[in-house]
Amino acid sequence: MMDGGNYSGMRPINLILLGPPGAGKGTQARILEEKFGLVQLSTGDLLRAAVAAGTEAGKAAKAVMEAGELVSDEIVLAILKDRMADDDVAKGVILDGFPRTQAQAQALDALMRESGQKIDSAVSLSVDDEAMVERVSGRFTCGNCGEGYHDSFKQTAKKGVCDKCGGTDMKRRADDNAETVRQRLDAYHAQTAPLISYYESRGCLSRINAMAAIDAVERDLEAIVERVSA
Ligand code: AMP
Repeated sequence: MMDGGNYSGMRPINLILLGPPGAGKGTQARILEEKFGLVQLSTGDLLRAAVAAGTEAGKAAKAVMEAGELVSDEIVLAILKDRMADDDVAKGVILDGFPRTQAQAQALDALMRESGQKIDSAVSLSVDDEAMVERVSGRFTCGNCGEGYHDSFKQTAKKGVCDKCGGTDMKRRADDNAETVRQRLDAYHAQTAPLISYYESRGCLSRINAMAAIDAVERDLEAIVERVSA
């Protein structure tokens, strides 16, 4: 089995995690980041940072995000390209929440070509929609280290205190409520799910049952990383 130490000298691996809100993209991306030294790149995180910083892009994205709709390709591609220019992404990336539209997928193909890289696998995390509403509505994260928790499925050992870093500033996303989650699921099915066949036709699609426990999904993803890096 490969570990983070053995991984460092290998060529960069680029993965896409495709799945609706609540499928576990962020959780699994963080695990892969720690395990294999890949860089998690979440356009949702980049957009939330832009909103918090009050940039022009953030001001334009705020209301769209609160409504659970997709931010324009133009804004998303601009912040993604900016982030892709940083040195650390040369190690390989796990794209979490990007691409979400056909135009974004095509722009990503062009970016990869320009840098002489490719998408090694687009992993579709299959889940049941109704379960996602419950998963998303109960989640919260540590504002200090970003560790994710859930009211029902993954509580902190001590109420309000992060198991990982001891932080007490727990955060819930403004768009993690039942009504907005349904809107986000609709946006996923209308605009993002078609990308499953986009990547299937390019021969790089993998499918995972993401209704399984976190560690089972983790093992499936690890097997994909090992397969594409062999
Ligand atoms: P996420 O953190 O991936 O759940 O994204 C939160 C919100 O940010 C989404 O509901 C969208 O409003 C916006 N967003 C994130 N990534 C994208 C993207 N690739 N394209 C369009 N909107 C996005």
